[in-house]
Amino acid sequence: MKNNPGYMSVRDVLDYFGKCPRCGYPAVASETLRRLPDGGLEREVTASCGLPCGWRGPADFPASLLDDVA
Ligand SMILES: [Zn+2]
Repeated sequence: MKNNPGYMSVRDVLDYFGKCPRCGYPAVASETLRRLPDGGLEREVTASCGLPCGWRGPADFPASLLDDVA
């Protein structure tokens, strides 16, 4: 794996239990990791509806979410 600037990695977030604000169906989230020019790592979680209603948005992914479903 190359450590070049701009490298991106995308993976599914399996422990995301948010819902689509438009239709209420459980949403799925994916995490994008982006290598910054200064060597840092930027993490962005994006949610999208599990149904084809077209909703996509930033995932509301608080740390307390994990405790709530335990
Ligand atoms: Zn939806």
